Amino acid sequence: MRVAIVTVGDELLAGDTVNTNAAWLCTELTERGVSVERVTTLPDRVADIARVVNEYHAEYDAVIVTGGLGPTHDDLTMEGVAAAFGREVEESEAALAWLTEQGGYAAGDLAEGTTHLPAGARMLPNDEGVAPGAVVESVYVLPGVPAEMKAMFARVADEFAGEPTYSETVATPEPESTLLDRIAGVQEAFDVTVGSYPGEHVRLKVTATDPETARSAADWLSERVEVLEE
Ligand code: ATP
Ligand code: MG
Repeated sequence: MRVAIVTVGDELLAGDTVNTNAAWLCTELTERGVSVERVTTLPDRVADIARVVNEYHAEYDAVIVTGGLGPTHDDLTMEGVAAAFGREVEESEAALAWLTEQGGYAAGDLAEGTTHLPAGARMLPNDEGVAPGAVVESVYVLPGVPAEMKAMFARVADEFAGEPTYSETVATPEPESTLLDRIAGVQEAFDVTVGSYPGEHVRLKVTATDPETARSAADWLSERVEVLEE
């Protein structure tokens, strides 16, 4: 399963908010064996959201969009997603029912637009907040507030599944440029993908579709590079 993530918000692009939602979703999806192939951050602008969601919906098995769901002027994500599908936003009976019956809100207390979802969407209740999310075909629209996003993702997590992968990491003090022969060697000897992540030291991460291959590849590397115990 190949997935794209779209995070929406001017504050993300301005650097005011660190995009923890993207990192959290990448981790969750990867752990489920899903391949995350795009993370894109967009401004609160209907045309941009519509264009990118339309493109990614055509390209990937699913798209997860977060941010911009509330009723405030800068919350344009539902309109953008609706436009991506050539639909209107409309009052969601399911959202209204959930908020009044389970959420304890009186219909009159809800800000205008709170229950507006793309026409024909499946409503996702917000267990940690107010604004509901939505699923339109394979596009999942979640809130921006991290706690709300995580709780709503939990409701649909089972819909994200792929081939599990297994990783092992070997840390080495050797400079990355001197490791090239061993990186090539492990790729030749085993059916693995290799990531090389320099920082204070270099972390070599081998990933395979079964744990034995990952372990054997890591052992192969450990015998051939200077190993730093982490
Ligand atoms: P609300 O219904 O409360 O308006 P929302 O879905 O409209 O929520 P936003 O208005 O986009 O979400 O953002 C609400 C809060 O969540 C902001 O404080 C914002 O900084 C934070 N937030 C939004 N997107 C992200 C993100 N990708 N990573 C971390 N925090 C985020
Ligand atoms: Mg908002």
